[in-house]
Amino acid sequence: MTLALVPGSFDPVTNGHLDIIQRAVELFDEVRVVVARNSSKTPLFTVEERLEMLREVCAPLPRVTVDSFEGLLVNYALKCGATVIVKGLRFVSDFEYELQMALMNRRLNNAIETVFLPTGAPYSDLSSSIVKEIARLGGSVEGLVPEIVQQRLREKYSIHST
Ligand code: ADP
Repeated sequence: MTLALVPGSFDPVTNGHLDIIQRAVELFDEVRVVVARNSSKTPLFTVEERLEMLREVCAPLPRVTVDSFEGLLVNYALKCGATVIVKGLRFVSDFEYELQMALMNRRLNNAIETVFLPTGAPYSDLSSSIVKEIARLGGSVEGLVPEIVQQRLREKYSIHST
């Protein structure tokens, strides 16, 4: 049984993330989407809000669970018996950073392998940051994020602007 982790900040989850998660399900026995609690980025959504959105959008997917982790991802992987880390790649800039992370993770624990999946064609320019920027400026994020995330973004920004 291979358990694969799909880590990220998911602030918020986008259709690009979902594409990677769905494709990981085809490749591995079980998939766990994990939200990093100690990311250096300043988030828009709390970890609990991000987990809630992820749980809702991943509910229809078989063999997918959602969790969060603190500290090193390889330590979390060891604890739960995961042997694969799945990362999506969009640009060359993603690759440089992700390769460095993958090499470091293997140095920390060589039993854990990182697998890169190229972004699905319609999502190559999609990031959580772009989605937040569009929503903040009042644009439509339809087709970029699941319905529930559209709703949450509307709530966040209408609260913020009052
Ligand atoms: P973001 O970079 O959008 O803030 P995260 O930090 O949550 O996203 O990223 C988690 C993982 O998801 C990273 O491996 C990232 O490359 C990947 N990812 C994010 N958006 C996409 C996308 N549109 N297509 C493919 N992979 C993506």
